[in-house]
Amino acid sequence: MPTIAAGRDAQALHRAATPDFFGWLEHTRAAAGCSRPIRLTGTLTAVEPGTGRVVEQRHTDELPDRTLYKACGNRRAAQCPDCAWVYAGDAFQVVRCGLTGGKTVPTTVARHPVVFVTFTAPSFGPVHHRHIPRHTCADRRCCDCRPAPCHARRNAGTCPHGQPAACFVRHDADDPQLGRPLCLDCYDHDHQAVWNAGELWRRTKQAIERHLTALCRQRGIRLVRVVTDSGKVRRVPPVRVSHGKVAEMQRRGAVHFHVLLRLDGVDPHDRHALVPPLAGITADDLDAAVHAAARQITVTTPAHPDRPQGWPIAWGEQVDVRRIGTGDGDVTDGKVAAYLAKYATKSTEATGHCSTRLTPDTVDAYADPEGDHLARLIDACWRLGRPNHTRSSNTATPTGGRQGDLDSKPNPYAGLRRWAHMLGYGGHFLTKARRYSITFGLLRDIRATYRRAEDDTADTITVGALTFIGSGWLTNGDALLANTAAAQHRERQRVGREELAHEAWLTGAAA
Ligand SMILES: [Zn+2]
Ligand SMILES: [Zn+2]
Ligand SMILES: [Zn+2]
Ligand SMILES: [Zn+2]
Repeated sequence: MPTIAAGRDAQALHRAATPDFFGWLEHTRAAAGCSRPIRLTGTLTAVEPGTGRVVEQRHTDELPDRTLYKACGNRRAAQCPDCAWVYAGDAFQVVRCGLTGGKTVPTTVARHPVVFVTFTAPSFGPVHHRHIPRHTCADRRCCDCRPAPCHARRNAGTCPHGQPAACFVRHDADDPQLGRPLCLDCYDHDHQAVWNAGELWRRTKQAIERHLTALCRQRGIRLVRVVTDSGKVRRVPPVRVSHGKVAEMQRRGAVHFHVLLRLDGVDPHDRHALVPPLAGITADDLDAAVHAAARQITVTTPAHPDRPQGWPIAWGEQVDVRRIGTGDGDVTDGKVAAYLAKYATKSTEATGHCSTRLTPDTVDAYADPEGDHLARLIDACWRLGRPNHTRSSNTATPTGGRQGDLDSKPNPYAGLRRWAHMLGYGGHFLTKARRYSITFGLLRDIRATYRRAEDDTADTITVGALTFIGSGWLTNGDALLANTAAAQHRERQRVGREELAHEAWLTGAAA
């Protein structure tokens, strides 16, 4: 709106005309790109690290705006593009170091067998989708190939609710119908909500390791004796798997996972050391173990008043396993890292839903058992996650305990209500095994050290006793000035990284 823009420009001019404008720009630099920086007030103390001697003490009242600005740190691009950009950069490095080594990770990891796996959710009912059977385009960035008809079935008739069971539309890539059920009443929203809240990944990883252990036994590869932290001697398989994983919310609102799985060895002298696996276990074996585990893992969730027999939770039929390498058609480490980093900054955006945590006061704006696809999914989460006391009294406890015991137990479905705004998914969007790579904390430390080294007072550390006083820039004009300064700096890096992520997509990492 012109009035807002005019007001903002006037604010910006006013700021730029202040005597200490450049001091202000410098002061806000660390948070400059942030959409809603945190404003802090209090005392900053510069301390000499060796002696603890206080070199200088300042109150934020002496600083421009009498405030310290700190970037919000939100990882979601939809919330704060700049902080998400920093986060994605860290995610890229974390993932990549696990593939190539670097920082504190030995470069020998580059020789470990690695696969890149996509685990999908099963079907909860037919949805409108877009599929291109064969690409004839030269460059997929400007792909204009014709998609196949959505659900082409002659004489398919109608479902029990009178909806056509076929769809002959060749959907455009931005068709809002994509991911929406052919019939809302046939679709099993409850099942999908429970599936999103499931814990399949943890069990799947255990199953993969079990398969590898069995394989070692078949091939006569002996277990390794290691000494645990508590001094006990244990015999463990000579291979283990470490992973980096990102969750992606599909348009239909089901979560799927892109996972890097790396095979590591075990050093009998140092349990924590990162060493290459035995030559006898290969990427083929890892591939086979992944497929076997994905097929095998089926869980039935606990009884629920709305479905006493619980829900079956298993992976979808499509499990896509790719090698990381340099050959044709392979995805490279940089591409995979860029791909995972990109998804690490997303959340439910692809579904069209975006809200903060729901409360009894706000849920009605989003949940509706008779509403559209998203409203029904959120309703399913909210309803299935209702508190324990509404359980029907005839629910048997698995352990045969008394009813009183049952009520005092945590409700296994409570998370669905807590994570209704995430359509039931309560996990992190990027996770990794501790052993997989460096930590985000290390990268932040390196950045802080670097920034400190840029200062004159590099030989001191700053300790703050600070209080939160608000978030956001003081005016839209301030936001414009600070963001513009930061944007110029970012743009150069941005181009390179997005190119890589795009290439990963083209190579079919996401197919
Ligand atoms: Zn931010
Ligand atoms: Zn369709
Ligand atoms: Zn194409
Ligand atoms: Zn129907």
